[in-house]
Amino acid sequence: MADMIGVFGGTFDPPHRAHFALATAAFENLRLTKVLWVPTSIPPHKSIGAVAAIEHRLGMVEALIDPESDFDVSLVDVDRPPPHYAYRTMELLHEEQPGPLIYLMGSDSLRDLPTWQLPMRFLDACDRIGVMERATIDYDLDVLEAQLPGLRKKIIMFQAPFLEISAMDIRRRIRGGLPYQHLVDPRVRSYIEQHNLYK
Ligand code: ATP
Repeated sequence: MADMIGVFGGTFDPPHRAHFALATAAFENLRLTKVLWVPTSIPPHKSIGAVAAIEHRLGMVEALIDPESDFDVSLVDVDRPPPHYAYRTMELLHEEQPGPLIYLMGSDSLRDLPTWQLPMRFLDACDRIGVMERATIDYDLDVLEAQLPGLRKKIIMFQAPFLEISAMDIRRRIRGGLPYQHLVDPRVRSYIEQHNLYK
């Protein structure tokens, strides 16, 4: 996929090893120019248990990402007032990014796509959608295609190791005083400890 820029939107509450694996696998397997990490506001269906303010979620992503690498952080959803619907994020990114954009997501997000705000407008704003299989997630592409015509031809599945890590589990572990260090990068761990998050 020469010249494609990956767009990796998420709540990143906190960013964890599966996020990093997804971004890395997409970058390598889809031969992307770069991956833009886009911390966004917490969608209503995730409000339970999602706690860290956008400043901290952005801070953790910035701590994780080496500015010299092929990953960048985009402030497109930080610098404008909510709601941060993904269709608008993509439209705004098209105004500032030179290349075609591929939105990256786990298969749980693909399954839920019809519930996103104006999903057809989102689809129109994506040149492609890169999907990494997430273990234990079931979805039916025929059903999704019937709901969102044109989806199938935009999807590119890519391989990445299955890592059943979830941000919600990490938050629970920290609250419960359980180990979580193996699930996040040491830079994210330092940030969490320094700011006493998720206690
Ligand atoms: P939670 O566990 O709280 O639901 P999350 O990590 O799924 O959090 P986000 O931070 O919004 O939520 O995830 C950003 C993107 O990363 C989403 O597209 C999601 O599908 C994907 N993702 C997150 N964890 C994994 C995983 N273990 N495997 C594959 N994809 C993942």
